[in-house]
Amino acid sequence: SLAVSANPFPVIDAPLVPLVGGEEVRYANFDHAASTPCLRVAADAVTALLPTYASVHRGAGYFSQSSTRAYEDARATIGRFVNARPDDAVIFTRNSTDSLNLLARALPADCTVIAFDSEHHANLLPWRNLIRLPAPDSRATAVRSVHEALRFVDGPALVAVTGASNVTGELFPVAEIALIARRHGARVVVDAAQLAPHRAVDVQALGADYVVFSGHKLYAPFGTGVLIGRTDWLDAAEPYLYGGGASAHVGDATNDLRWHTGAARHEGGSPNVVGAVALAAVCESLMNADRAALFAWEETLRTRLADGLTAIPGVRQLHIFGPQAPRVGTVAFTVDGYPADLVAAVLSAEHGIGVRDGLFCAHPLTRRLLTEAGVAPTHSTGCGTTGRPQVVATAVRASIGLGITVDDVDRLIAAVATLAADGPRWTYSLVDGRPGP
Ligand code: PMP
Repeated sequence: SLAVSANPFPVIDAPLVPLVGGEEVRYANFDHAASTPCLRVAADAVTALLPTYASVHRGAGYFSQSSTRAYEDARATIGRFVNARPDDAVIFTRNSTDSLNLLARALPADCTVIAFDSEHHANLLPWRNLIRLPAPDSRATAVRSVHEALRFVDGPALVAVTGASNVTGELFPVAEIALIARRHGARVVVDAAQLAPHRAVDVQALGADYVVFSGHKLYAPFGTGVLIGRTDWLDAAEPYLYGGGASAHVGDATNDLRWHTGAARHEGGSPNVVGAVALAAVCESLMNADRAALFAWEETLRTRLADGLTAIPGVRQLHIFGPQAPRVGTVAFTVDGYPADLVAAVLSAEHGIGVRDGLFCAHPLTRRLLTEAGVAPTHSTGCGTTGRPQVVATAVRASIGLGITVDDVDRLIAAVATLAADGPRWTYSLVDGRPGP
Protein backbone atom coordinates (compact mmCIF):
# COMPACT_ATOMS: atom_id res chain seq x y z
CA SER A 1 0.00 0.00 0.00
CA LEU A 2 1.09 3.55 -0.58
CA ALA A 3 1.89 5.34 2.63
CA VAL A 4 1.56 9.07 2.17
CA SER A 5 3.49 9.37 5.44
CA ALA A 6 6.49 8.07 3.46
CA ASN A 7 6.97 11.74 2.60
CA PRO A 8 8.72 13.16 5.69
CA PHE A 9 8.90 16.71 4.34
CA PRO A 10 6.02 18.98 5.17
CA VAL A 11 5.50 21.61 2.50
CA ILE A 12 3.44 24.71 2.99
CA ASP A 13 -0.20 23.65 2.66
CA ALA A 14 -1.75 24.16 -0.75
CA PRO A 15 -4.79 26.44 -0.42
CA LEU A 16 -8.25 25.61 -1.70
CA VAL A 17 -9.00 26.89 -5.20
CA PRO A 18 -12.43 27.56 -6.75
CA LEU A 19 -13.76 25.42 -9.63
CA VAL A 20 -16.04 26.75 -12.39
CA GLY A 21 -19.13 25.74 -10.41
CA GLY A 22 -17.95 27.63 -7.33
CA GLU A 23 -16.99 24.53 -5.31
CA GLU A 24 -13.56 24.67 -3.65
CA VAL A 25 -10.96 21.88 -3.77
CA ARG A 26 -7.39 21.37 -2.55
CA TYR A 27 -5.09 22.59 -5.32
CA ALA A 28 -3.15 19.69 -6.84
CA ASN A 29 0.05 21.32 -8.02
CA PHE A 30 1.45 19.09 -10.78
CA ASP A 31 3.92 21.74 -11.81
CA HIS A 32 6.88 20.92 -9.60
CA ALA A 33 9.20 20.99 -12.64
CA ALA A 34 8.40 24.71 -13.00
CA SER A 35 8.50 25.62 -9.30
CA THR A 36 8.02 23.55 -6.18
CA PRO A 37 6.07 24.48 -3.09
CA CYS A 38 8.19 25.81 -0.24
CA LEU A 39 9.36 23.39 2.44
CA ARG A 40 8.41 24.33 6.00
CA VAL A 41 12.10 24.36 7.00
CA ALA A 42 12.77 27.01 4.34
CA ALA A 43 9.82 29.13 5.46
CA ASP A 44 10.95 28.80 9.09
CA ALA A 45 14.52 29.80 8.18
CA VAL A 46 13.19 32.92 6.45
CA THR A 47 10.97 33.85 9.39
CA ALA A 48 13.85 33.39 11.81
CA LEU A 49 16.21 35.59 9.79
CA LEU A 50 13.87 38.49 8.96
CA PRO A 51 14.16 40.35 12.29
CA THR A 52 17.96 40.43 12.16
CA TYR A 53 19.00 40.41 8.53
CA ALA A 54 21.49 42.99 7.32
CA SER A 55 23.77 43.55 4.37
CA VAL A 56 26.66 41.09 4.43
CA HIS A 57 30.42 41.70 4.19
CA ARG A 58 29.87 45.39 4.77
CA GLY A 59 29.50 46.22 8.42
CA ALA A 60 30.86 45.72 11.90
CA GLY A 61 27.36 45.81 13.41
CA TYR A 62 26.03 42.76 15.17
CA PHE A 63 23.35 41.99 12.57
CA SER A 64 25.77 42.49 9.70
CA GLN A 65 28.18 40.07 11.32
CA SER A 66 25.54 37.44 12.05
CA SER A 67 24.05 37.78 8.55
CA THR A 68 27.51 37.40 7.01
CA ARG A 69 28.01 34.22 9.03
CA ALA A 70 24.59 32.91 7.99
CA TYR A 71 25.31 33.69 4.33
CA GLU A 72 28.73 32.02 4.37
CA ASP A 73 27.37 29.03 6.30
CA ALA A 74 24.68 28.69 3.62
CA ARG A 75 27.39 28.67 0.96
CA ALA A 76 29.29 25.93 2.81
CA THR A 77 26.11 23.85 3.28
CA ILE A 78 25.29 24.02 -0.42
CA GLY A 79 28.87 23.03 -1.25
CA ARG A 80 28.44 19.96 0.95
CA PHE A 81 25.03 19.26 -0.61
CA VAL A 82 26.72 18.62 -3.98
CA ASN A 83 29.97 17.25 -2.50
CA ALA A 84 31.94 20.10 -4.06
CA ARG A 85 35.75 19.92 -4.14
CA PRO A 86 37.35 22.02 -1.37
CA ASP A 87 38.55 24.68 -3.82
CA ASP A 88 35.35 24.90 -5.89
CA ALA A 89 33.55 28.23 -5.93
CA VAL A 90 29.93 28.27 -4.73
CA ILE A 91 28.44 31.37 -6.34
CA PHE A 92 24.96 32.61 -5.50
CA THR A 93 22.90 33.74 -8.48
CA ARG A 94 19.20 34.38 -9.12
CA ASN A 95 18.41 31.02 -10.74
CA SER A 96 19.82 28.41 -13.13
CA THR A 97 19.44 30.73 -16.13
CA ASP A 98 21.56 33.31 -14.34
CA SER A 99 24.16 30.69 -13.36
CA LEU A 100 24.53 29.40 -16.93
CA ASN A 101 24.78 32.93 -18.35
CA LEU A 102 27.46 33.70 -15.77
CA LEU A 103 29.45 30.64 -16.77
CA ALA A 104 28.99 31.42 -20.48
CA ARG A 105 30.54 34.86 -19.94
CA ALA A 106 33.41 33.41 -17.93
CA LEU A 107 34.55 30.88 -20.55
CA PRO A 108 37.83 31.48 -22.37
CA ALA A 109 37.12 33.30 -25.65
CA ASP A 110 38.20 30.29 -27.72
CA CYS A 111 36.15 27.77 -25.77
CA THR A 112 33.84 25.53 -27.84
CA VAL A 113 30.59 24.47 -26.18
CA ILE A 114 28.79 21.26 -27.08
CA ALA A 115 25.13 20.75 -26.16
CA PHE A 116 22.25 18.58 -27.31
CA ASP A 117 19.16 20.03 -28.96
CA SER A 118 17.25 18.47 -26.07
CA GLU A 119 18.45 21.09 -23.58
CA HIS A 120 16.27 23.64 -21.86
CA HIS A 121 16.75 27.02 -23.55
CA ALA A 122 18.66 28.20 -20.46
CA ASN A 123 21.35 25.66 -21.34
CA LEU A 124 21.26 26.35 -25.09
CA LEU A 125 20.94 30.09 -25.67
CA PRO A 126 23.69 31.57 -23.44
CA TRP A 127 26.56 29.75 -25.17
CA ARG A 128 28.84 31.28 -27.78
CA ASN A 129 30.83 29.00 -30.15
CA LEU A 130 28.09 26.41 -29.70
CA ILE A 131 27.97 23.08 -31.52
CA ARG A 132 24.40 21.80 -31.30
CA LEU A 133 24.11 18.02 -31.44
CA PRO A 134 20.79 16.36 -32.37
CA ALA A 135 18.79 15.19 -29.38
CA PRO A 136 20.00 11.63 -28.75
CA ASP A 137 17.59 8.70 -29.04
CA SER A 138 19.40 6.52 -26.51
CA ARG A 139 21.74 7.04 -23.60
CA ALA A 140 24.50 5.23 -25.55
CA THR A 141 23.99 7.57 -28.54
CA ALA A 142 24.32 10.54 -26.22
CA VAL A 143 27.74 9.42 -25.03
CA ARG A 144 28.86 8.43 -28.54
CA SER A 145 27.88 11.70 -30.17
CA VAL A 146 29.69 13.76 -27.52
CA HIS A 147 32.75 11.59 -28.14
CA GLU A 148 32.47 12.14 -31.94
CA ALA A 149 32.01 15.89 -31.60
CA LEU A 150 34.97 16.31 -29.23
CA ARG A 151 37.30 14.58 -31.67
CA PHE A 152 37.05 17.60 -33.95
CA VAL A 153 37.46 20.29 -31.31
CA ASP A 154 40.75 22.06 -30.70
CA GLY A 155 41.38 24.18 -27.64
CA PRO A 156 39.24 24.48 -24.53
CA ALA A 157 35.83 22.82 -24.66
CA LEU A 158 32.79 22.55 -22.43
CA VAL A 159 30.00 19.98 -22.66
CA ALA A 160 26.75 21.44 -21.33
CA VAL A 161 24.28 18.71 -20.42
CA THR A 162 21.17 18.42 -18.32
CA GLY A 163 20.95 15.93 -15.48
CA ALA A 164 17.26 15.32 -16.15
CA SER A 165 15.05 16.55 -18.99
CA ASN A 166 12.53 19.20 -18.01
CA VAL A 167 10.14 17.74 -20.61
CA THR A 168 10.20 14.00 -19.93
CA GLY A 169 12.16 13.75 -16.68
CA GLU A 170 14.56 11.28 -18.29
CA LEU A 171 18.05 11.08 -16.80
CA PHE A 172 21.01 11.80 -19.04
CA PRO A 173 24.19 9.71 -18.67
CA VAL A 174 26.13 12.55 -17.14
CA ALA A 175 28.89 10.50 -15.52
CA GLU A 176 29.61 8.65 -18.78
CA ILE A 177 29.63 11.92 -20.74
CA ALA A 178 31.96 13.48 -18.16
CA LEU A 179 34.33 10.53 -18.50
CA ILE A 180 34.52 10.96 -22.27
CA ALA A 181 34.92 14.71 -21.88
CA ARG A 182 37.78 14.25 -19.44
CA ARG A 183 39.57 11.96 -21.91
CA HIS A 184 39.41 14.77 -24.46
CA GLY A 185 40.52 17.37 -21.93
CA ALA A 186 37.07 19.00 -22.03
CA ARG A 187 34.98 20.23 -19.10
CA VAL A 188 31.36 19.50 -18.24
CA VAL A 189 28.62 21.64 -16.76
CA VAL A 190 25.58 19.79 -15.44
CA ASP A 191 22.28 21.61 -15.49
CA ALA A 192 20.85 20.07 -12.33
CA ALA A 193 17.71 22.24 -12.20
CA GLN A 194 15.54 19.13 -12.63
CA LEU A 195 17.97 16.65 -11.09
CA ALA A 196 18.71 18.18 -7.69
CA PRO A 197 15.09 18.03 -6.44
CA HIS A 198 14.90 14.29 -7.14
CA ARG A 199 18.38 12.75 -6.88
CA ALA A 200 21.50 13.31 -4.81
CA VAL A 201 23.93 15.36 -6.92
CA ASP A 202 27.58 14.51 -6.28
CA VAL A 203 29.84 16.71 -8.39
CA GLN A 204 32.87 14.54 -7.76
CA ALA A 205 31.16 11.20 -8.39
CA LEU A 206 29.67 12.60 -11.60
CA GLY A 207 33.05 13.97 -12.66
CA ALA A 208 31.40 17.33 -13.37
CA ASP A 209 33.37 20.56 -13.44
CA TYR A 210 30.35 22.80 -12.82
CA VAL A 211 26.82 22.32 -11.61
CA VAL A 212 23.89 24.73 -11.49
CA PHE A 213 20.42 24.58 -9.94
CA SER A 214 17.56 26.82 -8.83
CA GLY A 215 16.17 27.26 -5.31
CA HIS A 216 12.57 27.65 -6.48
CA LYS A 217 12.64 24.18 -8.04
CA LEU A 218 14.18 22.77 -4.84
CA TYR A 219 11.49 23.71 -2.30
CA ALA A 220 12.95 27.15 -1.48
CA PRO A 221 11.53 30.55 -2.47
CA PHE A 222 12.30 32.37 -5.73
CA GLY A 223 15.40 34.46 -6.27
CA THR A 224 18.27 32.12 -5.44
CA GLY A 225 20.29 29.81 -7.67
CA VAL A 226 23.86 28.56 -7.59
CA LEU A 227 26.82 27.97 -9.85
CA ILE A 228 29.35 25.64 -8.29
CA GLY A 229 32.65 24.61 -9.80
CA ARG A 230 36.23 25.20 -10.78
CA THR A 231 37.65 28.62 -10.01
CA ASP A 232 40.38 29.12 -12.63
CA TRP A 233 38.23 30.36 -15.53
CA LEU A 234 35.89 32.17 -13.15
CA ASP A 235 38.76 34.04 -11.49
CA ALA A 236 40.30 34.97 -14.85
CA ALA A 237 36.99 36.33 -16.23
CA GLU A 238 35.58 39.81 -15.98
CA PRO A 239 33.10 40.11 -13.10
CA TYR A 240 29.55 39.12 -14.04
CA LEU A 241 28.22 42.34 -12.48
CA TYR A 242 30.41 45.37 -12.00
CA GLY A 243 30.03 47.15 -8.69
CA GLY A 244 30.53 46.97 -4.96
CA GLY A 245 31.21 43.55 -3.53
CA ALA A 246 33.07 42.47 -6.69
CA SER A 247 35.73 45.17 -6.40
CA ALA A 248 38.74 44.80 -4.10
CA HIS A 249 40.31 48.16 -4.94
CA VAL A 250 39.09 51.18 -6.89
CA GLY A 251 41.74 53.86 -7.40
CA ASP A 252 41.40 57.48 -8.45
CA ALA A 253 42.22 56.70 -12.09
CA THR A 254 39.41 54.96 -14.01
CA ASN A 255 41.60 52.01 -14.95
CA ASP A 256 43.02 51.53 -11.46
CA LEU A 257 40.81 48.59 -10.53
CA ARG A 258 41.30 45.27 -8.83
CA TRP A 259 38.58 42.66 -8.60
CA HIS A 260 38.11 40.03 -5.94
CA THR A 261 38.67 36.42 -6.79
CA GLY A 262 36.37 33.62 -5.67
CA ALA A 263 32.60 33.91 -5.38
CA ALA A 264 32.69 37.64 -4.53
CA ARG A 265 34.01 38.46 -8.02
CA HIS A 266 30.67 37.43 -9.53
CA GLU A 267 28.31 38.48 -6.74
CA GLY A 268 28.35 42.24 -7.29
CA GLY A 269 25.75 44.17 -5.28
CA SER A 270 24.04 43.28 -2.01
CA PRO A 271 23.30 39.57 -2.11
CA ASN A 272 20.04 37.78 -1.34
CA VAL A 273 20.94 36.54 2.14
CA VAL A 274 17.41 35.42 2.95
CA GLY A 275 17.18 33.32 -0.20
CA ALA A 276 20.59 31.74 0.39
CA VAL A 277 19.68 30.79 3.96
CA ALA A 278 16.32 29.36 2.87
CA LEU A 279 17.94 27.24 0.15
CA ALA A 280 20.61 26.01 2.56
CA ALA A 281 17.90 24.98 5.05
CA VAL A 282 16.34 22.79 2.36
CA CYS A 283 19.72 21.31 1.39
CA GLU A 284 20.53 20.55 5.03
CA SER A 285 17.25 18.78 5.65
CA LEU A 286 17.51 16.78 2.42
CA MET A 287 21.06 15.72 3.34
CA ASN A 288 19.83 14.52 6.73
CA ALA A 289 16.90 12.58 5.28
CA ASP A 290 16.66 9.05 3.97
CA ARG A 291 16.77 10.26 0.41
CA ALA A 292 16.75 6.77 -1.09
CA ALA A 293 13.37 6.17 0.56
CA LEU A 294 12.16 9.55 -0.60
CA PHE A 295 13.14 8.93 -4.22
CA ALA A 296 11.57 5.47 -4.07
CA TRP A 297 8.34 7.07 -2.86
CA GLU A 298 8.44 9.62 -5.69
CA GLU A 299 9.05 6.80 -8.15
CA THR A 300 5.95 5.01 -6.85
CA LEU A 301 3.88 8.12 -7.52
CA ARG A 302 5.40 8.62 -10.96
CA THR A 303 4.84 5.02 -12.01
CA ARG A 304 1.26 5.20 -10.78
CA LEU A 305 0.72 8.33 -12.88
CA ALA A 306 2.46 6.99 -16.00
CA ASP A 307 0.63 3.64 -15.79
CA GLY A 308 -2.70 5.38 -15.16
CA LEU A 309 -2.25 7.59 -18.22
CA THR A 310 -1.07 4.65 -20.36
CA ALA A 311 -4.38 2.90 -19.68
CA ILE A 312 -6.42 5.80 -21.12
CA PRO A 313 -7.19 5.48 -24.86
CA GLY A 314 -6.08 8.53 -26.81
CA VAL A 315 -3.37 9.58 -24.36
CA ARG A 316 0.21 9.57 -25.72
CA GLN A 317 3.28 10.04 -23.56
CA LEU A 318 6.51 11.58 -24.80
CA HIS A 319 9.90 9.92 -24.32
CA ILE A 320 13.43 10.70 -25.45
CA PHE A 321 15.01 7.32 -24.67
CA GLY A 322 11.87 5.22 -24.18
CA PRO A 323 9.21 4.49 -21.57
CA GLN A 324 11.51 2.27 -19.48
CA ALA A 325 14.40 4.76 -19.26
CA PRO A 326 15.26 5.97 -15.75
CA ARG A 327 13.67 9.32 -14.95
CA VAL A 328 12.45 11.72 -12.31
CA GLY A 329 8.78 12.50 -11.70
CA THR A 330 7.85 14.32 -14.89
CA VAL A 331 5.34 13.03 -17.45
CA ALA A 332 4.66 14.81 -20.76
CA PHE A 333 1.55 13.71 -22.67
CA THR A 334 -1.13 14.64 -25.17
CA VAL A 335 -4.81 13.76 -25.47
CA ASP A 336 -5.88 12.97 -29.04
CA GLY A 337 -8.10 15.66 -30.51
CA TYR A 338 -7.52 18.11 -27.68
CA PRO A 339 -5.17 21.06 -27.86
CA ALA A 340 -2.85 20.88 -24.87
CA ASP A 341 -3.78 24.33 -23.64
CA LEU A 342 -7.42 23.30 -23.43
CA VAL A 343 -6.50 20.15 -21.48
CA ALA A 344 -4.57 22.32 -19.03
CA ALA A 345 -7.41 24.86 -18.77
CA VAL A 346 -10.05 22.19 -18.14
CA LEU A 347 -7.89 20.41 -15.54
CA SER A 348 -7.58 23.70 -13.72
CA ALA A 349 -11.14 25.00 -14.00
CA GLU A 350 -12.98 21.70 -13.55
CA HIS A 351 -10.64 19.78 -11.27
CA GLY A 352 -8.36 22.22 -9.43
CA ILE A 353 -5.30 20.57 -10.97
CA GLY A 354 -2.33 22.65 -12.14
CA VAL A 355 -0.26 21.36 -15.06
CA ARG A 356 1.87 23.07 -17.69
CA ASP A 357 1.21 23.10 -21.44
CA GLY A 358 3.26 24.19 -24.42
CA LEU A 359 6.80 23.39 -25.51
CA PHE A 360 8.35 23.91 -22.07
CA CYS A 361 11.30 26.19 -22.94
CA ALA A 362 12.76 23.22 -24.84
CA HIS A 363 11.23 23.91 -28.25
CA PRO A 364 13.53 21.84 -30.49
CA LEU A 365 13.16 18.77 -28.27
CA THR A 366 9.41 18.97 -27.64
CA ARG A 367 8.66 19.60 -31.31
CA ARG A 368 10.68 16.53 -32.22
CA LEU A 369 9.07 14.31 -29.59
CA LEU A 370 5.57 15.39 -30.69
CA THR A 371 6.40 14.54 -34.30
CA GLU A 372 7.82 11.16 -33.29
CA ALA A 373 4.71 10.42 -31.21
CA GLY A 374 2.53 11.20 -34.24
CA VAL A 375 0.72 14.05 -32.55
CA ALA A 376 -1.26 16.04 -35.10
CA PRO A 377 -1.42 19.83 -34.76
CA THR A 378 -4.79 21.01 -33.43
CA HIS A 379 -6.50 24.39 -33.12
CA SER A 380 -5.12 25.69 -29.85
CA THR A 381 -7.41 28.05 -27.98
CA GLY A 382 -4.79 30.57 -26.97
CA CYS A 383 -5.63 30.15 -23.28
CA GLY A 384 -2.33 28.47 -22.42
CA THR A 385 1.33 29.27 -22.77
CA THR A 386 1.08 29.45 -26.59
CA GLY A 387 -0.77 32.71 -25.90
CA ARG A 388 -2.88 32.94 -29.07
CA PRO A 389 -5.16 30.64 -31.05
CA GLN A 390 -3.15 28.78 -33.67
CA VAL A 391 -2.75 25.40 -35.30
CA VAL A 392 0.06 23.80 -33.38
CA ALA A 393 1.19 20.62 -31.65
CA THR A 394 2.01 21.13 -27.99
CA ALA A 395 1.99 18.89 -24.92
CA VAL A 396 0.81 18.78 -21.33
CA ARG A 397 3.34 18.25 -18.58
CA ALA A 398 2.53 16.90 -15.13
CA SER A 399 5.41 16.89 -12.67
CA ILE A 400 5.48 15.57 -9.14
CA GLY A 401 7.47 16.06 -5.98
CA LEU A 402 6.97 16.52 -2.28
CA GLY A 403 3.76 18.51 -2.65
CA ILE A 404 1.94 15.63 -4.40
CA THR A 405 -0.06 12.88 -2.74
CA VAL A 406 -1.42 9.56 -4.00
CA ASP A 407 -4.87 11.12 -3.97
CA ASP A 408 -3.63 13.93 -6.25
CA VAL A 409 -2.28 11.38 -8.74
CA ASP A 410 -5.58 9.52 -8.78
CA ARG A 411 -7.49 12.77 -9.25
CA LEU A 412 -5.32 13.66 -12.26
CA ILE A 413 -5.71 10.24 -13.87
CA ALA A 414 -9.50 10.31 -13.35
CA ALA A 415 -9.74 13.84 -14.74
CA VAL A 416 -7.76 13.00 -17.89
CA ALA A 417 -9.83 9.82 -18.36
CA THR A 418 -13.07 11.83 -18.18
CA LEU A 419 -11.73 14.39 -20.60
CA ALA A 420 -10.51 11.78 -23.09
CA ALA A 421 -13.79 9.83 -22.90
CA ASP A 422 -15.85 12.97 -23.47
CA GLY A 423 -14.10 13.78 -26.71
CA PRO A 424 -13.31 17.42 -27.36
CA ARG A 425 -16.57 18.87 -26.06
CA TRP A 426 -14.88 21.87 -24.53
CA THR A 427 -14.30 25.17 -26.18
CA TYR A 428 -12.65 28.16 -24.68
CA SER A 429 -14.38 31.49 -24.44
CA LEU A 430 -12.05 34.30 -25.34
CA VAL A 431 -14.68 36.70 -24.00
CA ASP A 432 -14.80 35.75 -20.36
CA GLY A 433 -11.46 33.90 -20.36
CA ARG A 434 -12.89 30.65 -19.01
CA PRO A 435 -13.28 27.20 -20.51
CA GLY A 436 -16.88 25.98 -20.89
CA PRO A 437 -18.75 23.12 -22.49
N1 PMP B 1 17.29 24.05 -16.83
C1 PMP B 1 16.26 23.22 -16.70
C2 PMP B 1 16.46 21.77 -17.01
C3 PMP B 1 15.03 23.71 -16.28
O1 PMP B 1 14.00 22.88 -16.16
C4 PMP B 1 14.90 25.08 -15.99
C5 PMP B 1 13.58 25.68 -15.55
N2 PMP B 1 12.46 25.18 -16.19
C6 PMP B 1 16.01 25.90 -16.13
C7 PMP B 1 17.19 25.35 -16.54
C8 PMP B 1 15.95 27.35 -15.83
O2 PMP B 1 15.69 27.53 -14.47
P1 PMP B 1 15.31 28.98 -13.94
O3 PMP B 1 14.04 29.35 -14.62
O4 PMP B 1 15.12 28.78 -12.48
O5 PMP B 1 16.41 29.87 -14.29
